[in-house]
Amino acid sequence: MNISASSVWDKCLSFIKDNIQPQAYKTWFLPIKPVRLNDNVLSIEVPSKFFYEWLEEHYIKLLKTALQKELGDEARLIYSIRMENTFGGKVAFTENIPSNNKAGLSPQNVEAPLNSHSPELKNPFVIPGIKNLQIESQLNPSYNFDNFLEGDSNRLARSAALAVASKPGGTSFNPLLIFGGVGLGKTHLAHAIGVDIKEKYQDKTVLYIAAEKFTQQYIEAVKKNTRNDFIHFYQLLDVLIIDDVQFLSGKTGTQDVFFHIFNHLHQNGKQVVLTSDKAPVDMQDIEQRLLSRFKWGLSAELQLPNFETRISILKNKLYRDGVSINDDVIEYVAKNIKTNVRELEGAIISLIAQSSFNKVEITQDLAQDIVMKFVKNTKREVSIDYIQKVVSDYFQMDIETLQSKTRRRHIVQARQLAMYFAKKFTKASLASIGSQIGKRDHATVLHACKTVDNLTFTDKQFRKYVEDLSQKLTP
Ligand code: ADP
Ligand code: MG
Repeated sequence: MNISASSVWDKCLSFIKDNIQPQAYKTWFLPIKPVRLNDNVLSIEVPSKFFYEWLEEHYIKLLKTALQKELGDEARLIYSIRMENTFGGKVAFTENIPSNNKAGLSPQNVEAPLNSHSPELKNPFVIPGIKNLQIESQLNPSYNFDNFLEGDSNRLARSAALAVASKPGGTSFNPLLIFGGVGLGKTHLAHAIGVDIKEKYQDKTVLYIAAEKFTQQYIEAVKKNTRNDFIHFYQLLDVLIIDDVQFLSGKTGTQDVFFHIFNHLHQNGKQVVLTSDKAPVDMQDIEQRLLSRFKWGLSAELQLPNFETRISILKNKLYRDGVSINDDVIEYVAKNIKTNVRELEGAIISLIAQSSFNKVEITQDLAQDIVMKFVKNTKREVSIDYIQKVVSDYFQMDIETLQSKTRRRHIVQARQLAMYFAKKFTKASLASIGSQIGKRDHATVLHACKTVDNLTFTDKQFRKYVEDLSQKLTP
């Protein structure tokens, strides 16, 4: 690198630093490398096309002022884009600066030397949902550590989360994987980590994202030919929190890209936090190399809260809402709703609502009424694993048989029933159901659902199976 290029750039940087948010400075200016200086033309290298477009859109004035201060009114800037040919491995730099094609500083006549053949610079890579990427962490501040009540069921996970939050990337809990059933606080805890980090370290770039959304973004990026920009964006983070990673099962493309992002972040001491509805050993259709990385750090389980913890969660919720309820009513609710915290909160919220709408006191009777209705009305979310277990138990076969490739009629029927109930009782897509039930494709699942519908009409014995299983699956 040319000495004078870097000294000019250093001076520009110190000017820029004084004029923008530290976060933005870190995100958009620190990764830039000065390459050379010829007279009044400074060449800088930026990590991606996206980066270049962002600079042009948001910081062109600032850049211009900074550069003109150093190099005079005729100052010019040339961008070159660093091309990443391999991920997590060697990085090849490609400079491609056509002569006679010096970029000016005004947006109209900027011509960045792009390696890609697509000339459309006016189409910046926009990550859906993330407009303002230097600040938007997508965190929900009402999910914090203060209102995440500690109990035996969550002690390990909660303390690990606290440790990670006070030293992101600096503990052996990297990645931290929080797993447990529905409504036990995974999302809450994941946000709490991010919220706490943002409070302690304002400069750190934190991003919370649901695995489902991550997948959508990735698919979008592939469509738009901006896969590298997508990867690059994620590799810039200090803390990446991905919720519900089980959603990645069967999605090999997304797993692959996540693998590279993960490696990069991990190698650079950045923190990764993951949540999942099952332990790594029980995850299906997640590549082995990814699973092994999940196990590098700590997997901490959130279990069902015991009675005492349920009581303290309820009391805390009431306290925060400024409502007081008799202890025996609280105990009644805590005793009867044990499945998860979300339902517990749901019941107490309807209790408060009932009493305030109808201006009645919250008595044990009212509680009984509501808890009954609540328990009855709550459709328990069943998992595809659970459905497969119930169906295979019912037909007295093991899950491997149910998932096997055999074409024996009663096994095929059992498998089709499992698919049918998975479609009916879960929100999973056909493709995801297929991949979890014996690695079939979505067309097979669709066919299974139709077959079950037809047979229920025409075959009495079969209808009985459907009814029995329905009953077993809906308590
Ligand atoms: P999950 O992501 O595991 O399905 P959530 O994080 O969405 O569960 O939690 C469901 C609800 O229960 C949320 O409103 C959350 O605030 C609450 N909750 C869970 N665990 C606790 C806890 N230990 N203390 C207080 N609230 C909790
Ligand atoms: Mg959740």
